[in-house]
Amino acid sequence: VEKITVGHVHLSGCTGCLVSFADNYEGLFKILDDYADLVYALTLADVRHIPEMDVALVEGSVCLQDKSSVEEIKEAREKAKVVVALGGCAAYGNITRFCRGGQWNQPQMESYVPIAELIDVDLYIPGCAPTPQQIRNVCIMAYLLLKGNDEQKELAGAYLKPLMDLAQRGDEACGCDLMYDVINQGLCMGCGSCAAACPVRAISMEYGKPNIDRDLCIKCGACYAQCPRSFFNFDVMNEFEGISELIKGVME
Ligand code: SF4
Ligand code: SF4
Ligand code: SF4
Repeated sequence: VEKITVGHVHLSGCTGCLVSFADNYEGLFKILDDYADLVYALTLADVRHIPEMDVALVEGSVCLQDKSSVEEIKEAREKAKVVVALGGCAAYGNITRFCRGGQWNQPQMESYVPIAELIDVDLYIPGCAPTPQQIRNVCIMAYLLLKGNDEQKELAGAYLKPLMDLAQRGDEACGCDLMYDVINQGLCMGCGSCAAACPVRAISMEYGKPNIDRDLCIKCGACYAQCPRSFFNFDVMNEFEGISELIKGVME
């Protein structure tokens, strides 16, 4: 089977997204054995220059004061067919933009911007960090989209569409977006991840549902990046069975 090539581009992030990717254990070996070659990952592979690749998983935001990061993200866009913002920092800036280490927001923090401020991004994988399964699924679906038969391509497209829609929607997300896109749609399952992710405690869980204090919200996007229902929405739910079977089949 012809594999796809995947790279991990590490900008200003905490490596948590990469750890989550590695937490797939045997699943990761299966992916690397059968479906994808990891052609670039400064932490895991001894390759110093960004090669041509099918999928670039970009972790972290871009520091505008760091020329090499700015060049690296532009080069990744030139070399990769599909650019994925892996995790909340790459997608929305998340904690790197507003509150690293629990500090108060300082002017220099705003030099950390989501990657979409510099390049076109094809797909977001939300979460801080995204779950291992979700990163695995995106790798599998990217493979099936590029190499699968017609039926597999269709299901892979259905799985990836909400993540592509997130990328189309832009690199800003606030508590109101969570309210409109998830809570008001009846999609919220009361998991509390948004409240736990909010750096300024603008979200409190009341009667099992998040309540957002808009006056406190600093629009960091952490809650939206963390919410599992911002991407597991009505578009995917209808295809859930077919997609589950597809992933099961590939991983066996
Ligand atoms: Fe770390 Fe979360 Fe940012 Fe990933 S999204 S780099 S886990 S802070
Ligand atoms: Fe960030 Fe909190 Fe506002 Fe969500 S509600 S965007 S986590 S400040
Ligand atoms: Fe609801 Fe999403 Fe918040 Fe979980 S993270 S409580 S699903 S809005």
